[in-house]
Amino acid sequence: MSASALLSWGQHPPHPQIPHTCHWRDALPGTLTELARTHGSTLAFGNGRSYGDSCLATSDHVLSLRHLDRFIEADWTRGRLTAESGVTLEDILALAIPRGWFLSVTPGTQLITLGGAIANDVHGKNHHVRGTFGRHVRRFGLLRSQEGRLLCSPDENQQLFAATIGGLGLTGIIEWAEIQLLPIRSSQIHASVTRFEGLTEFFALSDELDRRYEYGVAWIDCAATGRTTGRGVYMAGDFAAEGGLQAARRTNLGVPVTPPISLINSLSLHAFNEVYWRKHPRSQQPRRLGYAPFFYPLDGVRNWNRIYGPKGFQQYQCLIPRDQAESAMHALLSAIASSGTGSFLAVLKRCGDLESPGLLSFPAQGTTLALDFPQSSRLDTELFPRLDTIVREAGGRLYPAKDAHMLGEDFRRAYPAWERLEALRDPALNSRFWTRVTT
Ligand SMILES: Cc1cc2nc3c(=O)[nH]c(=O)nc-3n(C[C@H](O)[C@H](O)[C@H](O)COP(=O)(O)OP(=O)(O)OC[C@H]3O[C@@H](n4cnc5c(N)ncnc54)[C@H](O)[C@@H]3O)c2cc1C
Repeated sequence: MSASALLSWGQHPPHPQIPHTCHWRDALPGTLTELARTHGSTLAFGNGRSYGDSCLATSDHVLSLRHLDRFIEADWTRGRLTAESGVTLEDILALAIPRGWFLSVTPGTQLITLGGAIANDVHGKNHHVRGTFGRHVRRFGLLRSQEGRLLCSPDENQQLFAATIGGLGLTGIIEWAEIQLLPIRSSQIHASVTRFEGLTEFFALSDELDRRYEYGVAWIDCAATGRTTGRGVYMAGDFAAEGGLQAARRTNLGVPVTPPISLINSLSLHAFNEVYWRKHPRSQQPRRLGYAPFFYPLDGVRNWNRIYGPKGFQQYQCLIPRDQAESAMHALLSAIASSGTGSFLAVLKRCGDLESPGLLSFPAQGTTLALDFPQSSRLDTELFPRLDTIVREAGGRLYPAKDAHMLGEDFRRAYPAWERLEALRDPALNSRFWTRVTT
C-alpha cells in the first residue's frame, strides 16, 4: 500500500484508496472529468471518518476534498455560514463559537467535513429537538459531470437537494454549502449524569430527560447480562447561560502506532465497563463541562482507531422503530454479550420524529444502538447475521456511514427510495458500498 493511500475509519474492508487531491474549486470540473475518463468512476473523500466502505470508490481512486477548506461568507447576525465542503466542523466551531454560534446538529466527532456531514446527513445528541444536519442546510453548490454546476436548495433543483442530503456522495460533488447555526450564550455545557440499571430504566429516563434537555445520549455496558442487560450511564445537557465563549484547543494526544494485535479483548472489555459503570452516580448529578468532552470525547485521542490493530474494526449501528425498540434492544444486547466481543463505547440514543429533507437519511423515530467490534471473520458469519435477523424482524435498519457488511436485500428493503437515488446518481461517481448493496 502506498504511504499516502487512504482507508475508512474502521480500516476495514482493506481497500486502499488512491487520493487525487483538489485544492481549488476551479480545478474540480477538469479533475472529475479526468478521473472518470481514466478510472471509470471516482468518489468524493472528506476526512475518512466513515467506518466501512461507503467512502471508498468502486475504482479505488477518490477525489480528496479536505483541502477545499475556505470560508466564503458569514452573516453573524443571523448565524448563516457559507464554506467550501472540505472545511471541518472543528474549523467551523473555531470561528463560530467566539461569535456566539454553534452547529445546529453535530455528530460525535468534529473531525468531519461539511461535505461528509451532508452526504451522510449526520445526526447527534439533539435529534429529538432538531432532527438531522440536513434540516439546517440552506443551499449548496453541486458539480455534476454532465450538467456542470448547479445550485440546490429547497426551492431550486429540489430533487437533487433531497437526494444529495444523505446521498452518500453519489449525486455529485458538493463544492460549498450554506448552513444555519445555533445561537449559544456560553460554550460550557450544563449536564446531568446518572447511571441506570437496565433497558426499562433507560427508556423511562429518556422520556423524562428528552423533554427537559436539548442533548441526551447513553453509554451502555454491552458486556452486562441477565437483569443488568442494557445498564449504562445517561448524559443529558444544555448549553449553559453563562461561562464564556471559547473554542476548545486542538489536542496533540494520539495513538502513535498501530499495535500488532487489537488491544480490545473480552477481559479488558469487562474490566473497563464494570469500573466505568460503578464510577457514575445512581441519582442525577449536575455537572459543568466544556462542549468538547461532552460532544466529542473520542476526539481527545487522535487516531484512536489504531488500538484495534492492523485488521481494524467494524461498527454496527442500527435503528429500531419506537414500538419494537425495547424488546429488540434487549435481544441485540443479549446476543452481543453472549458473543464475548464488543466495545467500551456502546451508544444508545432515542431519535425523534422530525423528518429529514434527505431521500435516504438513516435516522427516524426510534432508538439507535452503535458499537464497535474488533475485526474477525466470525463477525460476518456468526454475530452480524444474528443481529441482522433481529433488526430485520423489528423493521429496523443499519446506518450506511458505519457499514461494511449489510446484505443488499436488507438495504433495499430498509431504504426503498434507493432506486430514486440511483436514477439521480452521477455516472462518474460510485462507491464500493453502493456497488455491494445495489447489484
Ligand atoms: C468518532 C466518530 C463518531 C461519530 N459519530 C457520529 C454520530 O454521532 N452521528 C453520525 O451521524 N455519524 C457519526 N459518525 C460518522 C461520521 O460523522 C460520518 O461518517 C461523516 O459523514 C464522515 O464525514 P467525512 O468528512 O469524514 O467524510 P468521509 O467519511 O470521507 O465521506 C463520507 C461520505 O461523504 C461523501 N462526501 C464527502 N465529501 C463530499 C463532497 N464534498 N461532496 C459529495 N460527497 C462528499 C463521501 O463520498 C462519502 O460518501 C462518527 C464517526 C466517528 C469516527
